[in-house]
Amino acid sequence: MAFALNTYPITYRSQFLDGKWSEEYLEKPHKTPSEEAAMSDEDRSKLENSRNCYADMPLVNYTSQYGLACFEGLKALPQKDGGLAIFRPDQNAARFARSMAGLGMPQFPEKMFLDAVTETVKRNDKLGFTLKYNPDWEKDSYMTADSVYIRPFTMGEGGIGVNLSSEPYVFVITTPVSAYFKAGRSDAVVTDKIRATPNGTGWIKACSNYVISALAKSEALKAGYMECVYLDATERKYIEEGSSCNIFFYLKSGELVTPELGDTILPGITRASIIELARDKGIKVSERKISIDEAMDEAKECFVSGTAAGVTPLTSLTNKGKKAEFNNGEVGEFTADMRDTIKGIQYGKLPDTKGWLVHIA
Ligand SMILES: *Cc1c(COP(=O)(O)O)cnc(C)c1O
Repeated sequence: MAFALNTYPITYRSQFLDGKWSEEYLEKPHKTPSEEAAMSDEDRSKLENSRNCYADMPLVNYTSQYGLACFEGLKALPQKDGGLAIFRPDQNAARFARSMAGLGMPQFPEKMFLDAVTETVKRNDKLGFTLKYNPDWEKDSYMTADSVYIRPFTMGEGGIGVNLSSEPYVFVITTPVSAYFKAGRSDAVVTDKIRATPNGTGWIKACSNYVISALAKSEALKAGYMECVYLDATERKYIEEGSSCNIFFYLKSGELVTPELGDTILPGITRASIIELARDKGIKVSERKISIDEAMDEAKECFVSGTAAGVTPLTSLTNKGKKAEFNNGEVGEFTADMRDTIKGIQYGKLPDTKGWLVHIA
């Protein structure tokens, strides 16, 4: 399973108390990785569940009651020449601080974020909870490659009144993941649901944004699609995002278009990296409004982007019963090139000329 919850044993925990952030690394129950692999599924699953339990955390809190929380998602990628590297964690650190500010929380310092993320991966790696590079991944452009997923998130302190969190916790957990989307067709449908509204929280990685995402994605899956696409809340005309990823259209004219940032679009780090890499290749990239009609009529290729999604082609897009198929349902040349470039940099197959990787082990 792509997102099975098998957290590595070492977890980072911090809390903002008396004006400063406390810090601790918790060692949750574990054996050696090979001992765990030899356990029965039932016993292993009990052990893994125990790693996800924290008896000293308040159950009734501003997150469990009112959804006040935010998170980040980044990856430590096994490198071709050994070790692990994290892709652009400084960008996640900055976005995490922005998300916390957007939720009226004290901001977690960016330097602490970077140290917590790298140290958590490093400490788990030392215990043998890590991944090694597999040259077979190169055969399908890392479509089936594994990585250590890093999930920093906030948790509200105990409280029952509707209130902001002034003493939030910050956790960092890690878990191995494989590819998020399956290879093959990825047909998408335009959803009626509205992910983000002007003056809302669409521009930060707030947990509450994911309620609509989960509902819309589940509707799309039930209707036989792999993904859903959101339109803007006001005019119901312009494309905004995929279910939890940004979206790109490579037009017949050779222009690469992605919706411009505003307060309803999440500024993806993969999105920003693709824009930069495409411009380096001499592609005309526009961050602008793109209507559903223009996308369906003019796009030659379409793909979604994100840490989990990577660069995933959408083979078709359906709106109100009308379907536009991209590149005859095949992965387009431009999409494949972008995917190979970004994955190649991430896994150390291509040179990291921009200094995007932070090597940790
Ligand atoms: C996290 C996220 C993305 C992708 O951001 P990356 O930094 O590329 O992982 C896109 N859209 C939404 C709504 C997200 O939450």
